[in-house]
Amino acid sequence: MNRKTTLLIFNIQKYSLHDGDGIRTAVFLKGCPLRCAWCCNPESQSGEKELIYRKTRCIGMDACGLCKQAAPTGAIRRGEDGKASLCMEFCKNELRLADVCPARALEIEGREITIDEVLQTVAQDEIFYRGKGGLTLSGGEPLFQKASIALLKEAKEDHINTAIETCGFVSTERLLEAAAYLDEIFFDLKSAEEEKHIRYTGVSNGPIIANLNALKKAYPHKRIRVRTPVIPGFNDTKEALSAIEAVLSEIGIYDWQKLPYHAYGVGKYEMLGRVYPLDQMRAQENF
Ligand code: SF4
Repeated sequence: MNRKTTLLIFNIQKYSLHDGDGIRTAVFLKGCPLRCAWCCNPESQSGEKELIYRKTRCIGMDACGLCKQAAPTGAIRRGEDGKASLCMEFCKNELRLADVCPARALEIEGREITIDEVLQTVAQDEIFYRGKGGLTLSGGEPLFQKASIALLKEAKEDHINTAIETCGFVSTERLLEAAAYLDEIFFDLKSAEEEKHIRYTGVSNGPIIANLNALKKAYPHKRIRVRTPVIPGFNDTKEALSAIEAVLSEIGIYDWQKLPYHAYGVGKYEMLGRVYPLDQMRAQENF
């Protein structure tokens, strides 16, 4: 890998104040092995480019209808409101539909960017970092793409401060390799209860806790901050939070931040033709 190696991202956020020390440039990478029911970046989950649909921008099937002509038979129809109604199961990989839409109601989520381009973007704001800020990798799970390690390595070559926000569900080898090029690690631990963790995120917390342990052992002086989003009905009880605290205490990590629940990402599910999973779980589990 070199500086021409590409990553698949869905956003670059400049002047970010909540993703590490100082002012930071946060790069959001696509792809995540988890499916958290409350995920506020559902567009990050797929490791591929995908079609999104903003209905408010659609100028209507009677006035336009170009997407229907270009789509597979039956995949797009006229909705009751006169706007395009997409069957996302069939349309999400039909990226060419974005080219036919004159209103940018249909767009592609995800774009390739080279390591060099990321570093140039980060360097544009060097004056604001003042020795503290820098580059933060987020997502999605940044380590889902192996090229993220090459990016971190090159960032260190350029003396850029680096941070990552990881879900921890990656191979231990990849995590430890990345840690060598990181100044700070934000590591999510969502629940100490395995069964609940599986039900709400799709994966076991076993490898996550094992990785946190391995990270602390391999890098005892590295800045590791564990973060827990506190989700109503999932982990918002004294018992659930105490159980997490006990796991962290056993590992020897005391920098623990609890993040409040928010529903900022709910509207994005509609653009992807999906239902907000936490609402479904709330209905099923009556909370
Ligand atoms: S091409 Fe775009 S604007 Fe035209 S009907 Fe389809 S979604 Fe609406």
